[in-house]
Amino acid sequence: PEYISVANLARAVKMRLDDFIVQMQNMGFEDVSHDHVMNAEVAGLIAMEYGYEPIADTSKEEDLLPRPPPEDKSVLQPRPPIVTIMGHVDHGKTTILDWLRKSSIVATEHGGITQHIGAFSVTMPSGKIITFLDTPGHSAFLSMRERGANVTDIVILVVAADDSVKPQTIEAIKHAKAANVPIIVAINKIDKEGTDIDAVKQDLAKNGVDIEDFGGDTQVVLVSGKTGQGMEGLEEAAVTLSEVLDMRAETDGPCEGWVLEAGTEKRGRVATALVNRGTLRPGDIIVAGQTWSRVRSLINEHGVEVEFAGPGTPVTVDGWRDQPLAGDSILQAVSEASKKVINFRMEKAERLRQATDMEAINNQR
Ligand code: GDP
Ligand code: MG
Repeated sequence: PEYISVANLARAVKMRLDDFIVQMQNMGFEDVSHDHVMNAEVAGLIAMEYGYEPIADTSKEEDLLPRPPPEDKSVLQPRPPIVTIMGHVDHGKTTILDWLRKSSIVATEHGGITQHIGAFSVTMPSGKIITFLDTPGHSAFLSMRERGANVTDIVILVVAADDSVKPQTIEAIKHAKAANVPIIVAINKIDKEGTDIDAVKQDLAKNGVDIEDFGGDTQVVLVSGKTGQGMEGLEEAAVTLSEVLDMRAETDGPCEGWVLEAGTEKRGRVATALVNRGTLRPGDIIVAGQTWSRVRSLINEHGVEVEFAGPGTPVTVDGWRDQPLAGDSILQAVSEASKKVINFRMEKAERLRQATDMEAINNQR
């Protein structure tokens, strides 16, 4: 059912109705009566408080579901394109990313990269911003794709001139095709002696890449991540293609995004989030997979705290109740009811933490 009454939910979690009503009032629900109804999401959150694992039939929920895309995209704001670097191991993905990242440090006033981040934005000489992603963990990528998410707008396929097309190159080509994402080929290591660029192009064509040289529309750029040769050409190719794609998104409304990476730092559990719709701000309540966060702070790829993150922007997000997983989708909780339940849980977790601290102090005495 889409909705459930308080009385039925109390029965479902095997609680006495009046005890259950008191509990709900403690959570911040006012004027609770036995015939008060709530939607499946709120009921599920409450049931989890009693140790139940709700099986959600999400087919009819309104809150915590991605919004349908708008009908008229031209009213939306331009957003930075997401460019993912893919290719066979040792072909130079990290070297190329580092080169792009360095140019981003030169372009900003801040001191530099203070932490590893698998996603970063670069302001191009033209002023256009591009967001680059390190190839996310394979499973994360698959889980995002299973949900029909095109996390990336453009794939830069790195192929070493001295090694040509290899199994992971072919896998990357398949991935880009399945996701219907355009490719820019970067033939790397052109500083090396005795390479055969034409043979590499032939191999690419044999594997279904429609490269420009053979009448297709896939650009091929010759680069060296080591010497920097051709790298401006690669950036230009990305800018040109992204101008054609003209990526846009709404900057208002509930935030949606993806967890690219997750881990633990000094400030606690963090996740690198990539916003794809709406704007994320401190204080927002977001849900990812089995966990949620009341966002305390947002930190960009330069280690600088920011006040908001809009579409196409990667940020690390803290405040997680449990560790989210790479590949989880992020949705903002906007209904007052779901906020109440989540706030209640955050406070309960905090009280529990304080109680544990007190216990530790008492034990030391
Ligand atoms: P990844 O596994 O694709 O991330 O590859 P890496 O960026 O780690 O590079 C693998 C090796 O190739 C490293 O030893 C790099 O120094 C080297 N390498 C990367 N790009 C170039 C290049 O343009 N020229 C030369 N000569 N070596 C390169
Ligand atoms: Mg690497």
